[in-house]
Amino acid sequence: MVKQSLVLILNCGSSSLKGAVLNTKNGDLLLSCLAEKLGNEDAVITIKKDIAARRSWHGTEEDTIDYQTAHEVHQTHLQQTRDHEEAVAVLMAELKAYGLYDYVKAVGHRVVHGGEKFAESAVITPAIMKELDACVGLAPLHNPANILGIQAAQHAFPELKHVAVFDTAFHQTMPSHAYRYAIPAEYYEKHGVRRYGFHGTSYRYVAQEAGRVLNRDSNRLALVIAHLGNGASISAVLNGKSQDTSMGLTPLEGLVMGTRSGDIDPSLFSFLSENFAMSVEQTTNMLNRQSGLLGLSGLSNDCRTLEAAAKEGHAGATLALEVFAYRLAKYIGAMTVACGRLDALVFTGGIGENSVGMRHRVLKHLAVLGLYEDAAANQATVGGKAGIISLADKPVVAAVIPTNEELMIAQDAARLSGLV
Ligand code: AMP
Repeated sequence: MVKQSLVLILNCGSSSLKGAVLNTKNGDLLLSCLAEKLGNEDAVITIKKDIAARRSWHGTEEDTIDYQTAHEVHQTHLQQTRDHEEAVAVLMAELKAYGLYDYVKAVGHRVVHGGEKFAESAVITPAIMKELDACVGLAPLHNPANILGIQAAQHAFPELKHVAVFDTAFHQTMPSHAYRYAIPAEYYEKHGVRRYGFHGTSYRYVAQEAGRVLNRDSNRLALVIAHLGNGASISAVLNGKSQDTSMGLTPLEGLVMGTRSGDIDPSLFSFLSENFAMSVEQTTNMLNRQSGLLGLSGLSNDCRTLEAAAKEGHAGATLALEVFAYRLAKYIGAMTVACGRLDALVFTGGIGENSVGMRHRVLKHLAVLGLYEDAAANQATVGGKAGIISLADKPVVAAVIPTNEELMIAQDAARLSGLV
């Protein structure tokens, strides 16, 4: 039996590196890793092996690896440079020991910001690296880490093609009336100040899957997709193309998130500066790290914790969930306008896929759009299940579709590397 080629995908943050090895044929994850606290003394890498997925990929050939369990997890402290480079080297050694290294035939990199340069994924060349460098100003926290990860992986896998998959690319189809801010044109023309949008890889996957779940052609659907995780955004996708989305120049704009405020009056900066001597940095930090569900509730950024606390009568938790749901409902209205009509509202991301309570809170606001919750279906659609959660005889469908950004990245990397 010929073993299927594997793809390594990497997602680097400033002090973290997430890696995964996928079988692109069925999306099985054979191995994943999370390196944390990179750059610190206590940098650590956790490796998870899915033995069952490896067996199913390995087929019936004699396997030299004999594990007794279905999963294996182990953690190692990084010893040398404790950076992205060392994390990739540890991952590479694991892949060799685990018999996967020789089958990894492409590397896909998640890159946060592709600016206006990238409307699609791209094979990384020296010219592309220059373009990525040029986008650093747009995502100073994320893109430098992505570049470090690419360089480390190119060093470890010099003979493979490396493919960049951008969070922003899917939204490059937005019309100018959706992506321009109403500020002087020179800020756009000279400095690229416009709305870009993020979570594009997730939207691309979910929009494709929607065709299957709804039994319709995904290129003829008007969808509003809500990606609700710790970071949250929403997008209007008409006939497979993004028309608008809630995140903007940065991932701070739009919905209420775990710790991010989403939309706010920009005068807050001068108000806090003039009255309370808060610097731009302090306010930016407050809006990104201390706001959202955490700030409103005074308790937690985690939807599960808040739902449990709200049930016990915690007023802050209840308010946080209500503000989240109301802002989301308003945006669903706005995104319906962007699509021109609405065939289906789709929930995805950790909250969208699992929080029966949040979906209930949001749908309560949406009878005006023809959306009505089927309470039993809502209750039943959790834990990675896809399904329809609206009443069958109503004009608009509400559905849950689990996202799979890793599979999209792996498929792009395989396709652009000529593996499929
Ligand atoms: P993500 O960033 O996509 O991993 O999503 C993280 C968010 O999903 C957190 O706010 C979690 O509390 C939320 N979440 C995960 N599982 C559940 C659940 N069963 N019920 C409610 N929220 C959940």
